[in-house]
Amino acid sequence: MAKQRTTARPRAPTGGEAMVEHFDVLIVGAGISGVAGAYHLQKQCPDTSFVILETEERFGGTWWTHRSPGIRSDSDLHTFGYRFKPWIGPPIATAEEILSYMGEVVEENALDRHIRYRHKILKADWSHEDSRWTVEALRTDTNEAVRISANFLWMCQGYYRHNEGYTPEWEGMADFKGRIAHPENWPDDIDYAGKNVIVIGSGATAATVVPAMAESAAHVTMLQRSPTFFRTGRNAIDIAETLRELDVDESWVHEVTRKKIMFDQAAFTERCFETPDQVKQELLGQIRELLGPDYDVDKHFTPSYRPWRQRIAFVPDADLFKGIAAGKASVVTDEIDRITEAGILLRSGETLEADLIVTATGFNMNVMGDIAFSIDGEPLDFHDTVTYRGMMFTGVPNLAWVFGYFRASWTLRSELIADFVCRLLKHMHETGAKSVAPALRPEEKDMKLFDWMDENDFNPNYLMRALPVLPKRGDKREWQHTQDYWREKDEFPAIDLDDELFVYRRGVRSNIAAE
Ligand SMILES: Cc1cc2nc3c(=O)[nH]c(=O)nc-3n(C[C@H](O)[C@H](O)[C@H](O)COP(=O)(O)OP(=O)(O)OC[C@H]3O[C@@H](n4cnc5c(N)ncnc54)[C@H](O)[C@@H]3O)c2cc1C
Repeated sequence: MAKQRTTARPRAPTGGEAMVEHFDVLIVGAGISGVAGAYHLQKQCPDTSFVILETEERFGGTWWTHRSPGIRSDSDLHTFGYRFKPWIGPPIATAEEILSYMGEVVEENALDRHIRYRHKILKADWSHEDSRWTVEALRTDTNEAVRISANFLWMCQGYYRHNEGYTPEWEGMADFKGRIAHPENWPDDIDYAGKNVIVIGSGATAATVVPAMAESAAHVTMLQRSPTFFRTGRNAIDIAETLRELDVDESWVHEVTRKKIMFDQAAFTERCFETPDQVKQELLGQIRELLGPDYDVDKHFTPSYRPWRQRIAFVPDADLFKGIAAGKASVVTDEIDRITEAGILLRSGETLEADLIVTATGFNMNVMGDIAFSIDGEPLDFHDTVTYRGMMFTGVPNLAWVFGYFRASWTLRSELIADFVCRLLKHMHETGAKSVAPALRPEEKDMKLFDWMDENDFNPNYLMRALPVLPKRGDKREWQHTQDYWREKDEFPAIDLDDELFVYRRGVRSNIAAE
């Protein structure tokens, strides 16, 4: 199915202010986070009216827009799936399986009635006068502009620009006689059977595309500038298998398996920080065993950074390595000099010939869904704000932002934030607050501020490219976006909503003086 793209200018909204529909909450995006938000809002705040606006024609986000061969998760679905809906398939799942799981959640909870598809939000303005957001969206099917207002904006927009992956500019790209495709814009009509394919990249996407294409291509070469860490193992989880053998109810299997996975992940993450060399040798040992003693693992699979400074992709059933061992795929570690008519000329002088080049070169991060934000008509630059626990921003009222984990499943954070937002909304309702925005406390006014992410902690290229537009971080946990699920799972439910860092307003501006 071809993806929809609209470049035409929107037609002005029809009607005046009377036409602006209003909701308590507006959720941006119907990916795995937006659907989590809607589910929890409906369960925890049943009297709250809400709408989800989604650019695409279906829910699913990442799992709907990505259609390249072999597309699958690289973390397990017990923790990437929701805590409230048991996952009963193999832990690493295809996009289709994830969409079908999300489809059940949408159907079982009648969430579809809240979703407006083909609505791409372009602008959002907060009015202090009215204590509400007004968003302007483009209906991509009719090219109409639609205006909707909401008391609270819940940003579940994901972290990268869908429909436009990141492709560096290489000299000679126009000369190439074959096709060049990015996994985020996978054309429906690509036939690679019997063809020579080069996949540029070394991350999770490359590791997925390479074995999938190697099944029918003549040969697939994974061309990387530098190597990445991988983990590999069976696409199964022992404890889940044992519990199922014992005929334990699936909801218990899900719960226990989640706990076991999170326990193991915590231990692994700790070891990556405490004994990185040992972990590195273990990871490389797995690969040496699969590729044999003559394979140059040092050159092709030994990164220069310590484990977990970038995401570690899980390769289920070692399919990437089995493809390499069988000669269907190979890895070249080199730099691109230029693209030629026939393929790629490398800095080493070697030429790789190809019929198809796949650029698995990453994302263009989009911090806030490419929405032009303003407050009382004044443009808002999120880089001027400080992040409150990676989910709110100083001086920005009634807005929560979902940005998940990299070192654990993304969704674990989406659900922690969902619980926080529901608690905050209930608190505001009970206290009659119309708006809330975090603010640095008096003793924090001179706090040293840093880039959003510490480069020594986690530093993939797409994130480093986006630091100039991301909010800032302070030197206390409240003012940081940590990657620490294991602490946040206890800290978030304990957040004191009456802490002075939450600045509440009890009326619309015109009434404040009278309060
Ligand atoms: C190939 C691939 C594999 C991945 N595998 C994993 C994994 O195994 N584990 C893991 O934890 N993470 C993984 N990730 C990261 C993944 O993106 C997230 O985990 C998760 O799917 C993000 O969900 P989300 O709902 O927050 O965002 P998204 O999936 O990005 O969905 C956001 C939605 O918001 C919509 N939207 C954005 N802006 C607007 C706007 N202005 N107006 C209206 N709608 C808008 C988009 O159309 C989209 O549908 C993977 C990412 C990719 C690309």
